[in-house]
Amino acid sequence: MSKPDLILLALEDPAILNLMERALLSGKYETAVAKDTQSLAKILQESVPGLLLIGETFNGHDGLKIARELLERFPTIPILVYASQAKPDLIKGVLRLGLSGFLVPPLRTSDIVDSVETSLKNAHRVGDWLRREVKRTTASLQRRAQISESERSRLESVFLNIHDSVMILDEQNHILLINPAMCRAFGLDEKTVVGKPVLDVVSHPDLRALLTRTDHNDPLQYHEVSFADGRVGNAQLTAIHDVGYALTMQDITYLKEMDRIRSEFVHTVSHDLRSPLTSVIGYTELVERAGPLNDLQRDFLNRIQDSVQQITGLINDLLDIGSIEAGFDTRREFVQLEGILRYTLDILQGQIKAKHLVIRTNIGVSLPALRANPIRLRQVMDNVVGNAIKYSHPNGEIDISIQAEGQQMILKVTDNGPGIPVADQPRIFDKFYRASNVDADVEGSGLGLAIVKTIIESHQGRIWVESVEGKGSSFFIVLPILSEPATVGKK
Ligand code: ADP
Repeated sequence: MSKPDLILLALEDPAILNLMERALLSGKYETAVAKDTQSLAKILQESVPGLLLIGETFNGHDGLKIARELLERFPTIPILVYASQAKPDLIKGVLRLGLSGFLVPPLRTSDIVDSVETSLKNAHRVGDWLRREVKRTTASLQRRAQISESERSRLESVFLNIHDSVMILDEQNHILLINPAMCRAFGLDEKTVVGKPVLDVVSHPDLRALLTRTDHNDPLQYHEVSFADGRVGNAQLTAIHDVGYALTMQDITYLKEMDRIRSEFVHTVSHDLRSPLTSVIGYTELVERAGPLNDLQRDFLNRIQDSVQQITGLINDLLDIGSIEAGFDTRREFVQLEGILRYTLDILQGQIKAKHLVIRTNIGVSLPALRANPIRLRQVMDNVVGNAIKYSHPNGEIDISIQAEGQQMILKVTDNGPGIPVADQPRIFDKFYRASNVDADVEGSGLGLAIVKTIIESHQGRIWVESVEGKGSSFFIVLPILSEPATVGKK
């Protein structure tokens, strides 16, 4: 225990020691005397004195050196040094070590008591300040710990109660955390699955497909998960730095249902519109036979026919999407994608020339054939290459590559045209969607890419776009190379 007012005396000269003891006694201070360095160490082990008064030499040792060593162990203890005279070296040493001061003859009782008292007061002040600071820092740490604890429990309650399914995996795909929604969705028991490799406990093929995908460079991957009771989930796998992965899944059953109702509606309306339009075309063709027309009448009739053709084209597109979505597109043959590209480029030659475009192709050698519907692949190629041509500026450049990689065929069409704004990119595959930067005089219905996507997905493929507004766009289409006929039908 520290005795604040116990003064420890470490002085060699008995006369000086005696003088100090008497002076301090008169000042009501308690004293303890260290006879040599061992007894000094022993006293300091048993109690920390309020102040140490040490001679410039003590027990044959340099007093300042002893003071320095003691300060390393007891940094707050005030130390006064007694010296026979105020030599510059002594003063420098006292200042350098940050000691409380020094005493030199002539030694008056009041001087001794004053020095001790001032040193003690200073030491108390420093001690009080230190205690206050420690208390303040501790209180602030406690507050922070309380805040992070309450944040943690808030997060935990969100994690446990949100409707979305969440699972956190480590970098080796072991389950770290799983919430009740995820357990319910896949019939898992939190107690038994935490700590296990996710592929050992999840058997759903859609989820396994997402978890075993090889393109781990993509920081976000997603996959639709269909359940036996008709529910559909949208599962995403996101890499999390220093943790592993977060697997989340939202229920999108109602979105799928809305999409189905919308498609059915469009399909029915299109179907009902086609017959009257066929009549309109038929009758416009008969008008001329009913009697001679003047030039103006013939011009009007041509315009009517053009417009009706346009509407019929649109309706046919919609019916195409409808029938592919409904799983009616079952035709599969061995098809060479390269041949289809040549055909498309031939057909579009006129537009290419008119805009003075440079087309470069890069076709892999001995590409395998695809099992696909050649008419549908023509539609895909016409649309994607046609868009690159349609949206390119005059004198633009278009690069088309077809390569096989493993069990996949990759078609990439790149142009240096206007590009697509980031906000529009996720929606350009929706029906009737046109990006916000499309010039009003560029014709189009916004249906082409919707058809392309439907066709590609019905061939178990994927399509996506990478684009920078003002710089150009790249459309990627990946189709599986199947040795067996593809199983087609509604997913
Ligand atoms: P559209 O009939 O309008 O061409 P699509 O469905 O083929 O319809 O394309 C949808 C939208 O995607 C287009 O309206 C356009 O905004 C954008 N788009 C498609 N291809 C390109 C391209 N190569 N360059 C720039 N924008 C494109």
